[in-house]
Amino acid sequence: MKVLVSIKRVLDYNMKARVKADGSGMDLAGLKMSMNPFDEIAVEEAVRMKEAGVADEIIVVSIGPSAAQETLRSALALGADRAILVETPDALEPYHVAKILAKIVESEKPDLCLLGKQAIDDDANQTAQMLAGFLNWSQATFASKIDVTGDAFKVTREVDGGLETLTCRKPCVISVDLRLNEPRYPKLPNIMQAKKKPLDMVPVASYGVSLSPTREIIKVAEPATRKAGIKVPDVATLVQKLDTEARVLS
Ligand code: AMP
Repeated sequence: MKVLVSIKRVLDYNMKARVKADGSGMDLAGLKMSMNPFDEIAVEEAVRMKEAGVADEIIVVSIGPSAAQETLRSALALGADRAILVETPDALEPYHVAKILAKIVESEKPDLCLLGKQAIDDDANQTAQMLAGFLNWSQATFASKIDVTGDAFKVTREVDGGLETLTCRKPCVISVDLRLNEPRYPKLPNIMQAKKKPLDMVPVASYGVSLSPTREIIKVAEPATRKAGIKVPDVATLVQKLDTEARVLS
């Protein structure tokens, strides 16, 4: 079984996001970038499938700037076999990412595409669904457990109010949720070995996908700053303020 894992290079979750002064987007200059945390979980799941003998090859793909090579190398250090970087300086919409991934799937013919449920920079939660749509493949989103059963995957999904279990026939697209597994840290020898694993750089134009925007970002703004709190002397004053000032009691 061949597994394709799609990984995005995003602002590290420990960094404080800054908005550009003109409100046109995020200012990422000088900030640490890392693999999208949900994609680390997707890589870990693929590696566990290989260790369990149900996957033969893991291909990791990223669509982004040349610096995303570093992100792909970390996935290779975690156990992926080879990597493809679709190079573009532009931040693409999930629609374009899914179109490009569909082209890669056509040539690589994986049995399973694993994606994160969402990228923590745009919080779109769209790429996996669109990819399955373009390929006309079955899909399971928000997986918290995946069992490979012959030519199908039994997937437990986190849904409102509980867990749903369903079966997807191969080939399919699965997006992974937080509780699926706990990703490992790469070992030093694996980091060294990863430098020798194949990493193909492909210019985005070679996929022939139109990248004209389908949407326009009107404005990006910081969240409103919270007003400072106040201290009240006793419970009676608290209740009175909640009633007459905050108006949350009646
Ligand atoms: P999103 O739909 O943007 O929230 O992203 C969901 C998932 O799609 C991510 O967790 C990745 O697996 C994949 N993805 C999104 N953008 C990219 C990208 N530029 N390169 C590779 N994978 C991506």
